[in-house]
Amino acid sequence: MKKILIVATRNAHKVQEIAAMLPEEFEVHSLADFPEAPEVEETGTTFAENAALKACGISALLPGMVLADDSGLCVDALGGAPGVMSARYAGEHGNDAANNQRLLQELGVHPAPYTARFMCCMCVAEGGRVLAEYTGKVEGAITLSPAGEHGFGYDPLFVPAGYDCTMAQLSADQKNAISHRADALQQFLKGMTGEA
Ligand code: IMP
Repeated sequence: MKKILIVATRNAHKVQEIAAMLPEEFEVHSLADFPEAPEVEETGTTFAENAALKACGISALLPGMVLADDSGLCVDALGGAPGVMSARYAGEHGNDAANNQRLLQELGVHPAPYTARFMCCMCVAEGGRVLAEYTGKVEGAITLSPAGEHGFGYDPLFVPAGYDCTMAQLSADQKNAISHRADALQQFLKGMTGEA
């Protein structure tokens, strides 16, 4: 029997990546399948707080296991920004082009290199209560020359450590082998099989 997992997001890119990385025994749904589900306000000051808010908020309303992913980019030269503000760095939620433009503007006044990391906190909840939490990351640096068409968000500006291309120049499979989301999801899968 399939394990039903609701991913508490309307971000199609996140759902696509998570679904592609999960084994076939999972049947993945997202909030696109539950249009009546409310938007959970991300009022936390950390990725972990926001992941828990989303997982608990949605699992209090929908049956079964809910997984929330709160993720973003942390740039050392900017004191960890955009961090939890990653999705709305330039004001409008989810405007990737504007967010990337603001990041380049902010970095312009700082000397390179721009070390950075993508962070992903995943929270699994059921019935409004946290079951488990996992944190994943991938180290790298920001380039001032955007490149690549794959992925989403800040991928065209992020060069993973050990690579000489941006995350957006990697295929979906290549990104899913090294990403912050993959790191957190591997821990979730180990937790599900009792290995953690
Ligand atoms: P959230 O929906 O509040 O978790 O915000 C996620 C935001 O972080 C996205 O809108 C992107 O700006 C950024 N982000 C998270 N994961 C990735 C990724 O895998 N690639 C590029 N940007 C990402």
